[in-house]
Amino acid sequence: MPTTCDLLVTNARVLTMDERFTIYPRGAVAITGNTIVAVGDIETNFIASHTVDCKGRVVMPGLVNAHTHAPMSLLRGLADDLRLDVWLMGYMMPVEREFVRPEFVTLGTKLACAEMIRSGITCFADMYYFEEQVAQATAAAGMRALCAETVLKFPTPDAASFEDALAYSRAFIARWQGHPLIVPGIAPHAPYTCTSEIFRECADIAAEFDVPLHTHLAETAFEVERSRQERGMPVVPWAKKQRLFDARVLAAHCVHVDEGEMRTLKDAGAGVAHNPTSNLKLGSGVAPVTKMLELGLAVGIGTDGSASNNDLDMFEETRLAAVLAKGTTGDPTAVPARSALTMATRLGARAMHLGHLTGSIEAGKRADLIVVDMDPLHNVPRFDRDPNAIYSQIVYAAKSSDVIDVMCDGKWLMRDRRLLTLDEAELRGAAQDIARRIDAFLIQREQSVLQKLIAIGGVAEQESFEIQVKAPLTSADTVIHALESEDIAIIRAVHYHQYDTYFFFDDPDQGRLRYREDEFLDEHNSVTTARARLTLTGPSREAAFGSVLLFRSRFFAPATHSPRFYREYFKPVREREVEKDRRRWLIAYRGAEFYVHVDRLLKPAADGYFLEVKSRTWSRRDAQDKAAIIAELLQRLGARPDEAIESDYVELGRDN
Ligand SMILES: [Zn+2]
Repeated sequence: MPTTCDLLVTNARVLTMDERFTIYPRGAVAITGNTIVAVGDIETNFIASHTVDCKGRVVMPGLVNAHTHAPMSLLRGLADDLRLDVWLMGYMMPVEREFVRPEFVTLGTKLACAEMIRSGITCFADMYYFEEQVAQATAAAGMRALCAETVLKFPTPDAASFEDALAYSRAFIARWQGHPLIVPGIAPHAPYTCTSEIFRECADIAAEFDVPLHTHLAETAFEVERSRQERGMPVVPWAKKQRLFDARVLAAHCVHVDEGEMRTLKDAGAGVAHNPTSNLKLGSGVAPVTKMLELGLAVGIGTDGSASNNDLDMFEETRLAAVLAKGTTGDPTAVPARSALTMATRLGARAMHLGHLTGSIEAGKRADLIVVDMDPLHNVPRFDRDPNAIYSQIVYAAKSSDVIDVMCDGKWLMRDRRLLTLDEAELRGAAQDIARRIDAFLIQREQSVLQKLIAIGGVAEQESFEIQVKAPLTSADTVIHALESEDIAIIRAVHYHQYDTYFFFDDPDQGRLRYREDEFLDEHNSVTTARARLTLTGPSREAAFGSVLLFRSRFFAPATHSPRFYREYFKPVREREVEKDRRRWLIAYRGAEFYVHVDRLLKPAADGYFLEVKSRTWSRRDAQDKAAIIAELLQRLGARPDEAIESDYVELGRDN
């Protein structure tokens, strides 16, 4: 007695991707509502309201993109061939701060969904800002997704603080829990962009609502090295110590993890998202997936965001995962085609903690499936001797453009390569409008060193006048002796080793950027603390009073990146390094405060010492008065005013 169902997909080569890798050469799939009710040689067991004849094409589970940032489709091709930090902190984050609004996220998600549906993806794991809009646009497009709001230690486009992001996440999760397509989650961005407090609180929220936690772990060797230095352990043990694995974790990347860390991930039931293109493109390396699979870890495959890939093509990604494993292990049997396709389907769903819903064609799972045309020439001919041949045909030969029909949650999203839930022409036009605006923003920014400095954050302007003078000294002792005078009060004395890197630009009006690293020394000349900062000095001098100089308008920022970062980001035409040993006193003299520096130039090496006396003020009048006192102090401290030199000339040479 036949049973009724809503839809019967017949005459299909069904790749179920179930645990036993069952294949039905002429099978059918019965669907009722959003659920698969039966699969196999079942055609005669059902009477369906609708029947779709697949004409012998392949029917397989919709692909699972285990890690992406969907709205970043709008940033595709914006800045490429850069190092991760320059790319992320120098370009992505500043542009995101300027442009990422709810409408941007909606449009970017729609564009990403359109591209993903076209390449046979039905389910993805997302992490971004305004995740509410990601969830809405994804649900409207009919796709399944784990949507997790990003939490960072610094302000983001939709949260002024991490507390705001946590509050947003709570409300977001509560709103979307139980939705048929969207599984809400929470996403502390990465160990290097989060504090331990953020990791703990996110784990608590994930546990409280019983939702997955999506994060980036051990993406670069630099991240792991820094974790060892600053936290005394690599990334995964640190995350464990923050109780991160109390939650059901989906960890993207895991490029630089050892076997112990893989076991930690496995024991915690965490899933891993392998992002081969992104990791290669950003030069991060290759995740040891062969070992992970051997240990039984749930490893899915992800495209990562379009800004680091630059497309959302899981066919490409799956093939790369398979061939890369062979190339890096020297073993052509590593990650065979069937394993790679499992990672792109069932295992990916498990890594996302959605294995009960999707990833294989099995009775009881949601009807997420695709129809693939194996007739295009690049798929011809077909061998049936080895049942695994179909996997290698799909992984090594087929292309995303061979996907002709896509169904998610029992609804068709694409038929005959025509999208049913999204308007491609409209998306194209709207995306190009955004690109034009971002272009204009970056063109303007790239013209100005100051704008670029502001873009990476933390800049404070100092409009004050700086009065300074510098002169050669034969001995440091004369200064130390003179400072003991009764009318000079020493407020503070420090000794440090100072490393300066000056960046020069073609256009002198851009000013000059200095990266300074100070290492403070104790009485035994051992380093106690260090600090680094950036100073952008404008080219114009307000005035010169004899040998005493006035500057104005300097811009300061804490230097949180390496000199290498700034070099690649600001692209100076020339640099100069200056290294000196500096003793510094803050003194009070004739009712005002002055800094006295005794410098010994180590690089470029110079004989003798230099004395520098400086002060700062906000008033021009006061600056003139202080200039007179400084000239006098210079003499008292043992230098002759007529020998005074412009300090920068000493350090930088007269060619500047
Ligand atoms: Zn990512």
